[in-house]
Amino acid sequence: MSRDPKYDILFEPVKIGPVTAPNRFYQVPHCNVLGHGRPRAEAENRRIKAEGGWGVICTQEVEIHPSSEITPTFEGRIWDDRDIPQHRLMTDAVHEYGSLAGIELAYNGSHAPNLYSRIAPMSPSNTVVHGSHPIQARAMNKSDIANVRRWHVQAARRARQAGYDIVYVYAGHDMSLLQHFFKPQYNQRSDEYGGSLENRVRLAKEILTDIKEAVGDHCAVAFRFATDELLGTDGLRAESEGRDIVGLLAEIPDLWDVNVSGWDNDSATTRFQPNEGYQEPYTAFVKTLTSKPVVGVGRFTSADAMVSQIRRGVLDLIGAARPSIADPFLPRKIDEGRIEDIRECIGCNICVAQDNMAAPIRCTQNPTQGEEWKQGWHPEKIDAAVSDEPVLVIGAGPAGLEASLQLANRGYSVTLAEASTGLGGRVSRECELPGMSSYARVRDYRENQIRQKSEIEIYLGNELSVQDVIDIGIAHVLVATGSHWRRDGSGRQHPFPLPGHDSVALLTPDDVLAGAEINGRVLIYDDDHYYMGSTIAERCRARGNEVSLVTPESKVSIWTEYTLEQERIQAKLLALGVEIIVSHKLLEIADGKVTIANSYSDHHQQQLDFETLIMVTSRSPHDDLYHALTEHEDRFKTLRAIGDCNAPGTIAAAVYDGHSAARYLESDQDIYAPLFAREIPGI
Ligand code: ADP
Ligand code: SF4
Repeated sequence: MSRDPKYDILFEPVKIGPVTAPNRFYQVPHCNVLGHGRPRAEAENRRIKAEGGWGVICTQEVEIHPSSEITPTFEGRIWDDRDIPQHRLMTDAVHEYGSLAGIELAYNGSHAPNLYSRIAPMSPSNTVVHGSHPIQARAMNKSDIANVRRWHVQAARRARQAGYDIVYVYAGHDMSLLQHFFKPQYNQRSDEYGGSLENRVRLAKEILTDIKEAVGDHCAVAFRFATDELLGTDGLRAESEGRDIVGLLAEIPDLWDVNVSGWDNDSATTRFQPNEGYQEPYTAFVKTLTSKPVVGVGRFTSADAMVSQIRRGVLDLIGAARPSIADPFLPRKIDEGRIEDIRECIGCNICVAQDNMAAPIRCTQNPTQGEEWKQGWHPEKIDAAVSDEPVLVIGAGPAGLEASLQLANRGYSVTLAEASTGLGGRVSRECELPGMSSYARVRDYRENQIRQKSEIEIYLGNELSVQDVIDIGIAHVLVATGSHWRRDGSGRQHPFPLPGHDSVALLTPDDVLAGAEINGRVLIYDDDHYYMGSTIAERCRARGNEVSLVTPESKVSIWTEYTLEQERIQAKLLALGVEIIVSHKLLEIADGKVTIANSYSDHHQQQLDFETLIMVTSRSPHDDLYHALTEHEDRFKTLRAIGDCNAPGTIAAAVYDGHSAARYLESDQDIYAPLFAREIPGI
């Protein structure tokens, strides 16, 4: 197949200062926590995107000096010349495919607690350090300002030596010193760097100019700028100071990389920001104020939406972080007329959560993400089958679908048996919850791929018994039968079943998703802390029930702090009129009432009434079939439980497990051996 001519515009080269991007697909700087701790993994992660057709591929934040470092996470580091060879790995990898390599030089100021260097962080004025660290940043004096300028220039020179084509100056996400200079909340200086907007912009202007002078003959200088903080008059707004800053710096950078701040706005999840191109209202003005090319993001996965951005003069380059993570081959697929093969980002922010946990990147849709070097996994290539023996996959949830697809890609004949009448397992049910519709893409991508494969036969409405599996007689069996929510209340807070759980007809999320009748006043007990409790609360409220949500944690859906959703979830539930009771555990369940008490003590006991009680605590693997099959192990060459049937977890974990089972089928790889490559510091 070949490219649809309507997408030709996406493949036009774009001149950026002294360099030229081969096309308009631009992977903006995004973190992956491979970074300076895992430079080979970092290089391979970015190399694959170049192979997949991205015209520009950038690093993550790169610390330029130990006085601004973000331990415990591993992002980039270019503190001195010794860091250059690591970066050379990445630039060589990117250049192999004719793409440009960009580096985001970062000085985080009061965003960086400096837990490793232990140097007091610096900020325009004395202020607290980001997060709950009991540390403050000191106000910068004139020599600090001179140092920060010098450190930027030194880092830019090293970046050029390392082979980068684009060097960034960073003022976004509320994570950067230069953005902090813009904001009166951080900048109460009375010298020429504070007060008027011109003064607050001075340091950014100086650093842009310094870097242009130092490396501008070879490298383009990009400015990453958050035009709006979505805080109304409490922050920078695109209609006022955001616009004025673009006006003041308009022609200085060679490229404007624009977005919204903070990170939760920039990387909004689909639950709260379902629209592709959602940043357009805040960034479209930039092109009217500069003749320089503009790149922007907005979870772009559709080629038509991308073309529309260019044709309407909103952007010159289509920026992407998450769409490039979910499908590193997105540009190539458009180029080759394979739009249907694009693995679209679902906007779940599991990738972001990994970063927030200081762990290497993973992705719900793309299980190879972060595994490119570590396990040698390529998103589009997989080893051929070892034999022509068929494989039986039981269960067509995320794990079973991914395993079947990858086995077929290897050339195995796959029999996929599914008890229900449709594919997708939990995603087909969970995507019906408020804000979760994009999760259906996990099913849809795989279903679409599987339907094109003659190697897979699907049997819907087939709940297999042990005897069925024996009768089928296939020697390689993957059991992907999922999990179910526990009814007895046990989980994180309660290691044992809750007293009285069997005395009432309570519901679990499985019942709710199966359409159980929900009457009157609903009480949800959420000891799971991800999205299930809060989405069920939303749904019940939308259907007119009075809803109380009780959680032993101090916030609703506390794990979603990692996915940048927590504040939005709590605010939404409050706006919907859900009664929220935090820091309380369930002590006892009786007919029509529960007893709760403070999580930190058994004090403040109170009773709450309910007509419907929904327990969102933990899940049990649906593994009876698997265990029964192990009694007949000698009949099978492979018998493995995968996904939630093995260990209930995220959808990302189930997809990964299915993928891994397919990759390693019939290999003699011991999955408990350290099968992956490790970057061990040379001693
Ligand atoms: P995972 O997230 O691990 O993929 P899911 O719960 O999403 O797990 O999917 C499990 C799927 O397995 C469900 O669609 C369920 O209907 C199916 N299933 C469960 N038991 C059987 C069985 N005995 N035979 C066939 N399919 C089954
Ligand atoms: Fe998109 Fe989720 Fe993958 Fe991140 S983890 S790239 S949000 S699908």
